[in-house]
Amino acid sequence: MKQILVLNSGSSSIKYELFDMNRMHVLESGLLECIGEPESCYQRKSAGRTHSDRIPVAIPNHEYGMQLIRESLGQNESFCNGDFLVGIGHRVVHGGELFSGPTRIDEDVIESIRRLIPLAPLHNPANLLGIEISRLAFPNVQQVAVFDTAFHQTLPRHAYHYAIPREYYQRYQIRRYGFHGTSHHYVTRQVADALNMPLSELNIIVFHLGNGASAAAIRAGKSIDTSMGLTPLEGLVMGTRSGDLDPAVVFYLGSEAGLSLDQIDTLLNKQSGLKGICGVNDMREVLRRTQTGDDLACLAIDLFCYRIKKYLGGYYAVLGRLDAIAFTAGIGENVPQIRQQSCQGLAHIGIELDAQRNESSGPGIREIQSSTSAVKVFVVPTNEELEIAQQTLQTVAAD
Ligand code: ADP
Repeated sequence: MKQILVLNSGSSSIKYELFDMNRMHVLESGLLECIGEPESCYQRKSAGRTHSDRIPVAIPNHEYGMQLIRESLGQNESFCNGDFLVGIGHRVVHGGELFSGPTRIDEDVIESIRRLIPLAPLHNPANLLGIEISRLAFPNVQQVAVFDTAFHQTLPRHAYHYAIPREYYQRYQIRRYGFHGTSHHYVTRQVADALNMPLSELNIIVFHLGNGASAAAIRAGKSIDTSMGLTPLEGLVMGTRSGDLDPAVVFYLGSEAGLSLDQIDTLLNKQSGLKGICGVNDMREVLRRTQTGDDLACLAIDLFCYRIKKYLGGYYAVLGRLDAIAFTAGIGENVPQIRQQSCQGLAHIGIELDAQRNESSGPGIREIQSSTSAVKVFVVPTNEELEIAQQTLQTVAAD
């Protein structure tokens, strides 16, 4: 038996999943939240259980959180004291141009992730902390970094450059990086398998629609364009992020509304998107409000879907041949109305949904296009943790 532990360390949380890689199934998962805050808690679920309790526990820091995870795994019979643990995979948000695939962690890699902190000041430090405490807790286990940006390192230069003086790319690495790469990669492979097609032949557009949302154009299994940019702010309308915007809005907010750069940052990242338009960022609540005739909730949905459709058309043009479209993440997987509205009126370019299939729900990957649609349309439950586990196993096996 081979086991992989996946760790996702955030600024005040640690999420973990222990996988049995022979059966590709989760042996234990857990979430430590509000670390360092009075309301910190621990939620743990072992294999075969559908329920997990949120237990209030004082977790003063990440080190103590890691100790709790070790203890919990130690009590789990399937863990067998770590005898089968062959690797630990860490989610790292930003790999810049330095990392185009999963990478075994050593001192140099840690230093490189540290040098990338200016590109992801909120995420990379927390990811690094997770790596450091995990190396201390499991000193004899190989650790692997899996980057959110890595899958998009295949973008051609005309897709990743912004049309600003080149020195800002050279000196400050300002370019499109893209995010959600682990999810886009996983979904692309799932669709290739479902179509019984080699990954290297598949042309697909993937929409990852969660609280954060992004689109990716994938040619021959490789990402050639994506909607998020230097940061996750660009592109689609999101829960609280504006997505695409005339950059001059920023100057105007400064000069006319008197906002500081920090205030504009907060406005565009935390107070915009669905929330900015109708007051709430949770799609379930936005939909509920549309049922009561709330005009602003309807506007938020229209904007959300209109932006998706624009990317769909643009990426279709860029790809030429399109085999499939995939919807994934919280909204992409669960909201038929968003899929329907985003693909509405596209039968003339070979994209048409089947209303009944689109409305149906169920576990696993499923097709929702009509019988006459030239392009297949899929709903794919994403699984970033499993993708990290698989990439980690491949990396340790290759050594
Ligand atoms: P993230 O991982 O970025 O936080 P998720 O992939 O969990 O995001 O997606 C969160 C979004 O998905 C929220 O807007 C939530 O309302 C929406 N969502 C999740 N499940 C459903 C559902 N069953 N119906 C409608 N919206 C849903």
